[in-house]
Amino acid sequence: MIALHNITKSYQVEAMSIPVLKGISLKVDKGEFLAIMGPSGSGKSTLLNIIGCLDAVDTGSYRLDAEMIAGASEDRLADIRSRKLGFVFQLFNLIPRVDALRNVELPLIYAGVAPKLRRERAMAMLQAVGMADRAAHTPAQLSGGQQQRVAIARALVNQPDVLIADEPTGSLDSKAGHDILRLFDQLNAQGLTIVMVTHEEDVAAHASRTLRLRDGVIERDECNQRLARVH
Ligand code: ADP
Ligand code: MG
Repeated sequence: MIALHNITKSYQVEAMSIPVLKGISLKVDKGEFLAIMGPSGSGKSTLLNIIGCLDAVDTGSYRLDAEMIAGASEDRLADIRSRKLGFVFQLFNLIPRVDALRNVELPLIYAGVAPKLRRERAMAMLQAVGMADRAAHTPAQLSGGQQQRVAIARALVNQPDVLIADEPTGSLDSKAGHDILRLFDQLNAQGLTIVMVTHEEDVAAHASRTLRLRDGVIERDECNQRLARVH
């Protein structure tokens, strides 16, 4: 599903070019749950943003399904993001002024789905993440874990091929974080491909595979025992 070949990426800082990714090659199959780990500054978020078509590579190739991503225009990237990818962030990034249902409906509004159908689909998605009874609550009326559930419902309402998650439990206490990871486990068991950045070993233990970055290169890439899956 995802195929990166020899990706490089630098940032320009005060006329200096700072290399951040130094030749990353990676294949992720449909149905995998990949955790990207590594020290702070090792390039995890940069790699995730490239996989998520939020950022462009300098050199190398990237294929997502049948689409060639490297070199694509911003319009095409936006189209691919909205059709194929769902995003979950550490700080939830919900719209504060509208309720949970409206937050989940948002991607469907952009996609031009008719009001009745989009309300049904958003409600079904809230149901799937265990938040149907909070549909009329605004983010401020929800706990962090509940907000992240709503954010996951929003990320999945367009039925993306891949869920992209950057430190999805980073703002949650351990109980709420564990509940979110169990939801990821369920979604992955239903076939959803997940690519998640984390710096916590017990979070990465939920994934089927762990990639370890160091200084912009892959240091290790290994299958997990999935001990954390035995609840
Ligand atoms: P991680 O997520 O592993 O902590 P990042 O991918 O966020 O690492 O960052 C890798 C390196 O790139 C860091 O040294 C960071 O300071 C730098 N960096 C990230 N984004 C930018 C940017 N937009 N401009 C300049 N430097 C950046
Ligand atoms: Mg990061």
